[in-house]
Amino acid sequence: MSPHLSAAPPVSVRVRAPGKVNLSLRVGARQEDGYHPLVTIFQAVSLVEEVTATLETPGAGLSLTVSGAQAERVPVDETNLAWRAAESLARYAGVDADVRLHIHKGVPVAGGMAGGSADAAAALVACDLLWETGLSRAELSDLAAGLGSDVPFGLVGHTAVGTGRGHLLTPAMARGEFHWAFAVRDEGLSTAKVFQTFDEVVGGTPDVELSDDTELMQALRAGDPVGLGRALHNDLEAAALAMAPELGRTLEVAHEVGALGVIVSGSGPTVAALARSRQHALAIAASWTAAGVADSVHCATGPTSGARVLAS
Ligand code: ATP
Repeated sequence: MSPHLSAAPPVSVRVRAPGKVNLSLRVGARQEDGYHPLVTIFQAVSLVEEVTATLETPGAGLSLTVSGAQAERVPVDETNLAWRAAESLARYAGVDADVRLHIHKGVPVAGGMAGGSADAAAALVACDLLWETGLSRAELSDLAAGLGSDVPFGLVGHTAVGTGRGHLLTPAMARGEFHWAFAVRDEGLSTAKVFQTFDEVVGGTPDVELSDDTELMQALRAGDPVGLGRALHNDLEAAALAMAPELGRTLEVAHEVGALGVIVSGSGPTVAALARSRQHALAIAASWTAAGVADSVHCATGPTSGARVLAS
């Protein structure tokens, strides 16, 4: 990171953004526009991505490198969500997209934990600072929603209710810290295919209601992990299990070691287990490893903040 005088524009900006777990994911029937109405409660967790944006000479354009867990599975071209985020900001603000992006991955790839969305959120914040485009939070949020349904949450983090396609956010009150264990598989599940299977197997009702999550919201407000564990819910779980039946054993193993609640995270295949404590989360992760039901395991806490600048 190059030092700079406070008045001078930064030459490099590093931003951290979190992965997420859907504490509840309620999915309505597919609409004519192809989207599913969602009511979801996101929690940002301490598995994080770091995006560093470095100023390039005028005309150099965009370039991207990736390091960290499963980096080889992430595209380094214009299909990368962070690349698209930088491009969309440049277009909106009327500046040239001259920037070198580096992503350090800590969120499982294609794991249903929105790692790519976190990268996009982080890239928006980093490039806005680097290019001194000075967008408001509302403008950044609009650009984020145009990039993907989970990107706006990557900006705000903490715990939030998402409606619409999951992109219309309202902060949710949550007290205390929750301990999570995650079982990750190398073979990801395509979010689009999980929704397609949902359409075929489950279908969904036309309306989805937050009122179904009253118990969950109360548990969050009270900082009650037992109540939260009982209330975890994912309408996509049956579809993810139909596509990857071996996940059933991962859920079972966590239940056997006393997890307060276990769900497939978002569209899967990551499985999230809520634990009583950090030690309990480590014990759940160790049981998954011993049972051979995960390619890697992680422990994390939630909630945590959305995209925030680490250094510039
Ligand atoms: P979500 O929960 O938001 O649906 P996910 O966590 O299941 O997403 P991601 O890791 O965000 O999945 O990415 C899914 C796919 O998108 C990857 O397989 C990869 O090909 C592509 N992709 C594009 N940009 C990125 C990125 N920055 N990081 C990871 N994958 C990316």
